[in-house]
Amino acid sequence: MRDPETGETIDDALALWFPAPRSVTGEDVAELHLHGSRAVIAASMALLGRLGLRLAEPGEFTRRAFLNGKLDLTQAEAVADLAAAETEAQRRQALRQLEGGLGLLYRGWSERLLRLLAHLEAAIDFPDEDLPPEIEARVAAESAGLLAEIDAHLADNRRGERLRDGIAVAIVGPPNAGKSSLLNQLARREAAITSPIAGTTRDIIEVAMDLAGYPVVLADTAGLRDSADVIEQEGLRRALARAEAAELRLFVFHAGQPEDAEGVAAWPGLDTILVANKIDLARSGERLPPGALAISALTGKGLPNLIETVTARIAERYDIAAPLLTRARHREALETAAAALRRSLAAGLPELRAEDLRLAWRSLGRITGRVDVEDLLDVIFADFCLGK
Ligand code: GDP
Repeated sequence: MRDPETGETIDDALALWFPAPRSVTGEDVAELHLHGSRAVIAASMALLGRLGLRLAEPGEFTRRAFLNGKLDLTQAEAVADLAAAETEAQRRQALRQLEGGLGLLYRGWSERLLRLLAHLEAAIDFPDEDLPPEIEARVAAESAGLLAEIDAHLADNRRGERLRDGIAVAIVGPPNAGKSSLLNQLARREAAITSPIAGTTRDIIEVAMDLAGYPVVLADTAGLRDSADVIEQEGLRRALARAEAAELRLFVFHAGQPEDAEGVAAWPGLDTILVANKIDLARSGERLPPGALAISALTGKGLPNLIETVTARIAERYDIAAPLLTRARHREALETAAAALRRSLAAGLPELRAEDLRLAWRSLGRITGRVDVEDLLDVIFADFCLGK
C-alpha cells in the first residue's frame, strides 16, 4: 500500500476486491487487510481520507445491504443481535435469523396472502368470467389455515424474545431458606456474570448469567411469609409477581423443615423446581418431598446437579428447530395481520374480505421490509387463465 503522491510505502498489505453485486452490501467493495498497529491505521486512514473516503456510520454497511436487497429487515436486526450476543444460545438464534429462516417464513405467508387476495379480487372484478365457482370458499379455507399458522407462531410463550433478552428464573421460598446464598453460589462459582442489571430494588436482586450457554436472569426475591410490615408486604407482592412471571422457579426451603415446601402449591401448573437447602445441617433420614433436589448453598454440595436440572428444563423449551419470533416489532405486525385475517373471515361482502386481506398482507410486509409486489405479479397472473 503506497501513498499515491509520494510513492512511499505505508504497509505491506492485502487488498481484496468484491465487484458489485456480489459483495456484502451489493456495491463495489474493497477490503484492505493491514497490519493493525496504530501507526499503520492512522497513516492509512489519512491516506484514504485524502482520496475522499470516510468512516462508515454505525450500521451503515447493514443499511446499505438492506437497501440493495442483500438482507431483509429481520436479517438486518439479526446482525445487531449477533453483535450483541453474550451467550451461545443467543448467538445461535441470531445466526439462524441472519441466515434468513425467519424472513423466509414471513415472506412465505406474505406471498400466500397476496395470492389469496389476487384470487378474491379476480372473483370480484370478473364475475362473468369462467372462474371456478368455489374460488371464494377456497380463499376462505386457505385464509383460515394461514391464520391458524400465524396464531401458532404467536402462541410461542415469547420464547424467542426471552432468549434474546434473558430467560427469567426466580428464586423463591421462605425467609432464611438460603435464597441469597444460592444466588451468590450460582453467580460466583458456576456461571459467568455477563452484565449487571440496573434498577435492583430493595426486594429483588437480579443477576444476568450465562448458564450452559443460555442467557439467564436470576432473581432473588423477598422471603415468602405473612407480614404486618408495609414494606415487607410490598416486597412480598413483588416477589410473588416476579415468581409468577418467571419462566422457571426454584423454590428453596430448609431441608430440615420439609413442611415449608408446601408453599410451592401457590403456583399450580407453573414449572417449579423444589430445592431442599442446608442438607449439611439436616439429620439423616429427613423426608424430602418427591422430586426435591438436595443442596447445600454453604458447601456447594448438590449444585452441579441443580444446574444440570435447570439447564435441561430450559433446553427442553428452547432447543427447537423452528425459527422463533424474536422481537416485539414482529409480534405487533403479526398480531395486526392475524386480526385483519380474522376480520376478513368474518366479513360478509367479498370486497370487505379483500380489504382486510390487503391489510394483513401489508402488515406482514412491514416485518421483512420487502413488499415484493413486482416479483410476484408474474406468479399470480400465471395462476389465471383469463387471457387478459
Ligand atoms: P434467604 O433469606 O433465603 O436469602 O437466606 P440467606 O441466603 O440469607 O441465608 C440465611 C442463613 O442461612 C445465612 O446465615 C446463611 O449463611 C445460611 N445458609 C444458607 N445456606 C446454607 C446451607 O446450605 N447450610 C448452612 N448450614 N447454612 C446455610
